[in-house]
Amino acid sequence: MGKNMEEVRCKDVEDFLQPYLEYRLDNKSTKLLIEHLKECPECMDELEIRYLLYEGLKMLESGRDFNLKAELEKRLYQSEQHVLMIDRLKTSVVLLLCALGILGIVQMIFVFIG
Ligand SMILES: [Zn+2]
Repeated sequence: MGKNMEEVRCKDVEDFLQPYLEYRLDNKSTKLLIEHLKECPECMDELEIRYLLYEGLKMLESGRDFNLKAELEKRLYQSEQHVLMIDRLKTSVVLLLCALGILGIVQMIFVFIG
């Protein structure tokens, strides 16, 4: 069990931050990142700083006024929902495949019995 629950360290998370901001981070890493951010204020700060630099510059150019912190919180919330949805979807697919597998076995038994 323990092997599956990957422990993420701050050093690993640092590599996720920029891809996350650029919407390039895969689902599994996003999940690890969000879980880590909830428990690690330092990495959250780091993400905030990078977000300010990354999005802030774009927003300055566009001349629009944004509450960047609120924007980031919204972004993180959406990512979390997205990750949860994908997880549920995966579980549903696995359950469906199991059900189909059982159905197949039952069918085979019936064929066997005649
Ligand atoms: Zn950390």
